[in-house]
Amino acid sequence: MVDQPSSKPIATNPIPDLNTVAFAVEGPAYSSESETHVAYRPQSLYLVGTDGVIAAVLTPDDPQYHAIRAELARLNRLTSLADGQVLLPGFSDLHLHAPQWAQAGAALDEPLERWLGRYTFPTEARFADLAYADRAHRHLVQATLARGTTSVLYYDTIDRAAAVNLAHVCTELGQRGFIGKVVMDDPESNPEYYREDTATALAETERFINEVREFAPDSGLDAAPPIVQPVITPRFIPSCTDAALEGLGELALRYHCFTQSHCSESDWEHHTVFDRYGRSDTEALDMFGLLTDRTVMHHCVYLSESDADLFARRGAAVAHCPLSNAYFANAVAPVRRYRRQGVTVGLGTDISGGYDPSVHAMVRLAAIVSRNLESGVDASREAAERGGVADALVTLDRAFYLATVGGTEALGVRAGRLEAGYAWDVQLIDVHAPGNDLPIFENDEDPAITFQKIMNLSTPANIRAVWVQGRLAHGTLA
Ligand SMILES: [Zn+2]
Repeated sequence: MVDQPSSKPIATNPIPDLNTVAFAVEGPAYSSESETHVAYRPQSLYLVGTDGVIAAVLTPDDPQYHAIRAELARLNRLTSLADGQVLLPGFSDLHLHAPQWAQAGAALDEPLERWLGRYTFPTEARFADLAYADRAHRHLVQATLARGTTSVLYYDTIDRAAAVNLAHVCTELGQRGFIGKVVMDDPESNPEYYREDTATALAETERFINEVREFAPDSGLDAAPPIVQPVITPRFIPSCTDAALEGLGELALRYHCFTQSHCSESDWEHHTVFDRYGRSDTEALDMFGLLTDRTVMHHCVYLSESDADLFARRGAAVAHCPLSNAYFANAVAPVRRYRRQGVTVGLGTDISGGYDPSVHAMVRLAAIVSRNLESGVDASREAAERGGVADALVTLDRAFYLATVGGTEALGVRAGRLEAGYAWDVQLIDVHAPGNDLPIFENDEDPAITFQKIMNLSTPANIRAVWVQGRLAHGTLA
């Protein structure tokens, strides 16, 4: 944490034509300066273009600051933040099963097999009722936007129409949605009432890709990608036939699509895949063409050094889901090692393997579980024999980096930093918001301390407004 204003020069573009500036926001901000440091910038003027991209960032020592500020105020395009308000980049949630929102918080004492069979598959199958799906999707997208989540990598269900509905809901409500129609075709491992045959699963996936791309065409701009994108989504290897995995790999290549799946999540999954192919989950996914530079794999708790090297070589990313892993993974993912090996890592809630829809909560949990990983947890053993892993700590600053920069890099979106050329995907925090819990009693508190309080103790009450690609998607500036 840099507790004083950063002395690094701030990247700015030349001052744009103010006719192309949709609005400007003036106030303080926190943004990752590096993987280990979150920088506090006391007060700056952010000019946001009509394309939703930050056109320029001006600090008060810029000779043009006051003239530009005055002109924007005259044009009624300036918002000046009140005392206690501060900007953060929006967060990315790299793993969320949208239909499981309908059962979030329930059945977490069950073992995985019963959790899937008795609760999860029936819950997902209900989304074939589109009116029900639409109601649940809207509630979820609003709930996550209200928690500062600007981008989400979703699983939906095997039902194409339900997944298309989620794409429409994200578009309408203004959240960046990467959406997967799930494939699970193996008759041995899936219930008859919630399964497609291989040919249907592949044809429906291809149709899904085309339908989503039709209403959300690519602008060709890095910082203004389509608001929703289709994602090729085998549930995980144990639920799919080889023919489906091969077919999905071919679709990924042909359509240059994102892919996602669960990878080495638990002892059971890790060993099941090894027994089937005589190779790791990572190697098997790669064999089917599903590990690319447009891939996010979920959990990845058991990657060997060579697995993680393969992730790094392919440019594939990992979604670290600390809460879900506590219930279903049997271990803590060694995030710091993956980062040292050059793997892109972001955070995921994994609703509803985890119950909490907040990436703020995942920032805290990533820090907490890393402490257990570093120390080991069996108190009956001496410290040296407790099984701790050296250099495993994820500080709040590092976790914030994963939630902002890591998540957006995984999704190929130029966002996650408050710099010129980045999309205006932003959450406005109000430390004095009515009904909030932050214990801030001094007007001149060290910004480094305030940052830590925001990360550890903020609630949705503190999130006053959220923009995605320059569009106000939650809250109000009044
Ligand atoms: Zn999952």
